[in-house]
Amino acid sequence: MKRTQIQRARAGEVTPAMERVAERENRDPEFVREQVADGQAVIPNNHAHDSLDPMIIGREFATKVNANIGNSETTSDIEGELRKLHTAVHYGADTVMDLSTGGNLNEIREANVDHAPVPVGTVPIYEAIKHVDDPADLTHELLLDTIEKQAEQGVDYMTIHAGILMEHLPLTDGRKTGIVSRGGSILAQWMEENGMQNPLYAKFDAICEIFAEHDVTFSLGDGLRPGSIADASDEAQFAELDTLGELTRTAWDHSVQVMVEGPGHVPMDQVADNVERQQSVCDGAPFYVLGPLVTDVAPGYDHITSAIGATEAARAGAAMLCYVTPKEHLGLPEEEDVRDGLAAYRIAAHAADVANDHPGARDWDDALSEARYEFDWRRQFDLALDPERAQTYHDQTLPGDNYKEARFCSMCGVEFCSMRIDQDARDADGEMSAIDDETDLRASAAAEVNLPPVGSHDTSGVPEKVEIDGVTFTPEESHADD
Ligand code: SF4
Repeated sequence: MKRTQIQRARAGEVTPAMERVAERENRDPEFVREQVADGQAVIPNNHAHDSLDPMIIGREFATKVNANIGNSETTSDIEGELRKLHTAVHYGADTVMDLSTGGNLNEIREANVDHAPVPVGTVPIYEAIKHVDDPADLTHELLLDTIEKQAEQGVDYMTIHAGILMEHLPLTDGRKTGIVSRGGSILAQWMEENGMQNPLYAKFDAICEIFAEHDVTFSLGDGLRPGSIADASDEAQFAELDTLGELTRTAWDHSVQVMVEGPGHVPMDQVADNVERQQSVCDGAPFYVLGPLVTDVAPGYDHITSAIGATEAARAGAAMLCYVTPKEHLGLPEEEDVRDGLAAYRIAAHAADVANDHPGARDWDDALSEARYEFDWRRQFDLALDPERAQTYHDQTLPGDNYKEARFCSMCGVEFCSMRIDQDARDADGEMSAIDDETDLRASAAAEVNLPPVGSHDTSGVPEKVEIDGVTFTPEESHADD
């Protein structure tokens, strides 16, 4: 049987995946090995995921962003899902989770794994539930069979809601929004109707054995995460977290990699405490947070309310941020929502890396600022987090080629352009005519992280085109407005 990354790391071996990660993050391979061996970082890397470019998730590395894709009962076509995958990777997702709950689940999952250069995550209970009429009819065998099949298909990490227990359920009685995790609510119903303990908890050792065989990484789900600011940091959430700490150690005993999922909806003043508590309870296992939203009042803008919380969480040590799109709480995201959500979260991740003084992170900011001050518009677009959008917005008012060297834009206009005025004044004083100490991103300590336009994300492994059933999709087709 092939060994897992953590097994090999503990044995002192630097694997090819660790070498690649070290190269991408500009870190010593031995440091990467130590972090994986100690469970402080994970390299989700199913043995069967051949198209994967390995990446690492841990608080000592660049903050990562996950994009959820997938269909629902109302939309179920493979082509649309692959376009979403392509959009997500194109706009910088470090991992994707296929949360499909509609039709063609197997075909969509296989297509995603085949095409994804980033790790693919799933929530297997979403598929298992499709095989029964009532959630209460789920069996241990069905759950294990589903998990095993998805592991064989090459899924790199799975959300397993094993931490929600029967004894936790009464703790949610006084909540404003009850149990909002889909997996959590299914399991709560199952436990109440069957009068038995959570089957994922009861069968956790068996799940560990499957994960060890395929090197699937646990993403221990927080089925009792708060669904509103009012429910944040309550007894139910922290009781489940204690169980997740216990399960983390069990998985490590089975030589399986683990990360732990976190909330949800948390007011700003509690975000850092939540991260520190998880890091303490789960012995430093990487924390993978959903936002969190820091206020509940902005449906339609929840990519913003949650990116604020995500920045704070990453500042405090969260290793991966699960993006939220503007459609959160309102509907299934479309491709443009995926783009907007990813932009918000890549900003959150990078802002935290800059604030945390992650080696080389600020070089990207410096390079863009220099291009801006020099009125090098083309370079400014190239360096932008979303180059297509930056140029589109600029060109809406000043489309001509001659404006690509103009010493103003339409925001302040030629007369009031403060940077032009400042440069003219400095030139008149003989202080400077150009920035002569430009940041060289290729020489940056985080060269791969900072090379635009991918930010902390390597798109070199992303196919320029995806062909499905004779139809070719490109990012441009997905964004004809650019
Ligand atoms: S016009 Fe204003 S916004 Fe535009 S480049 Fe000059 S200072 Fe910046």
